Amino acid sequence: MIEGKQTVVKSGEAVTAEGYIIHRRKALVVGHQWLICARCGEQTRKQKGQLPAGFYYCPACVSYGRLTDLDELVTYYEENPTPPLTEVACCQWEGQLTKQQQQLAQALQEAFINGQNVLLWAVTGSGKTEMLFPVIADALKAGLKIAVATPRIDVCRELFPRLVAAFPLAETLLRYGKAEESWRGFRLLVCTTHQLLHFYRGFSLLIIDESDAFPYEGNRQLAFATQQAVKTSGVSIYLTATPTMALLAKAKAENWQILQLPQRYHQRPLILPQCRFWEGWRLLPERPRQLLRFRKLCEKLLQNNRLLVFCPNIAYMHSLAQALKAVMPSRKIAAVSAQDATREEKVQKMREGHWDLLLTSTVLERGVTFADVSVIVIGAEHAVFTKSVLVQIAGRVDRKGAFNHGQVWFLFQEQTTSIRRALKEIRHLNRLATRMAVKK
Ligand SMILES: [Zn+2]
Repeated sequence: MIEGKQTVVKSGEAVTAEGYIIHRRKALVVGHQWLICARCGEQTRKQKGQLPAGFYYCPACVSYGRLTDLDELVTYYEENPTPPLTEVACCQWEGQLTKQQQQLAQALQEAFINGQNVLLWAVTGSGKTEMLFPVIADALKAGLKIAVATPRIDVCRELFPRLVAAFPLAETLLRYGKAEESWRGFRLLVCTTHQLLHFYRGFSLLIIDESDAFPYEGNRQLAFATQQAVKTSGVSIYLTATPTMALLAKAKAENWQILQLPQRYHQRPLILPQCRFWEGWRLLPERPRQLLRFRKLCEKLLQNNRLLVFCPNIAYMHSLAQALKAVMPSRKIAAVSAQDATREEKVQKMREGHWDLLLTSTVLERGVTFADVSVIVIGAEHAVFTKSVLVQIAGRVDRKGAFNHGQVWFLFQEQTTSIRRALKEIRHLNRLATRMAVKK
């Protein structure tokens, strides 16, 4: 039995579980014209959800298993809450928080005690995860359940080992997509935001990392799931380096605590992108002169660092990869996208320094840390490169270690509002960081 996790049973079916309080509710409410789903929150027109046998189902969340008006959602809660667990809360992380990180970590602990939701706006490379350790330790100590959820599988994979290393006794479980561990008891869950649809008032502390990322941002179903997954007395912490206007507005309207950390862990400023007008970038793989010009830029950046090249779509990425392999035979070049079955291996090889040049779609925009890289964005005016995505991509550079002359280049044929806003935001955050450093 997993506390707070919903199971589907037929209406009226007897359910017993010793030591648990059982909560049951109708899975699908059938109204006059609409169906309202208790699991995903979607409203569907009745005729759209009608089955031949005469009853109804929710088409919006059918991929999680069909839910009909003959079903109920059952959730179990422990009758006797877990006693305080000092030993599982013992944090094994041996690093040091900076003074500013410490202040924010403490603010998170206070918000948790006061039952206040938090938006933590911390720049890329500021060490967000480590700032969470004290509040996670508090929740574990109190015997409470915690989830760290993120829209991105890659981010889950990167977070999980770090949390396991910090809290080796916390029975941490990793769940995402199809390649997940099966359900078992846990105190700390690391999962994709989709997995939250399986929970009803299950967590006392719910941390949403990279909340502005696709597919979470603007997804009603996932927002509903996030709200339902946390206990009524629980606290949600939203972490992001690039909050959307909508999230900031929500945080203000609902009186969350908004915490800001504009300074990176190593106290150096964010790298300001260099913009270059590049006419005809779309034909770059086919035009020898353009290609040689691009090679020149790559070779220049490769003198100090390895190189990540972000492309606006997958087909373009592959043709550019092929063209570059032909003109740069001595360089190790690879391409990786979300559709790539070997993506994890390729990303790992990049971490290990195997590739000189890795071409990628926006899949690597966030959540991954490579040492010593420079970044080029080709076709930065393309719609996939929103302001947030551009700020995130620029944030891949100069993440850790000594300064390595990493550079960020935006190549485009047309300067968009997103490009201008991204530059403005990076400048603004750097100014804030300087001001904080002076105050200190
Ligand atoms: Zn549904």
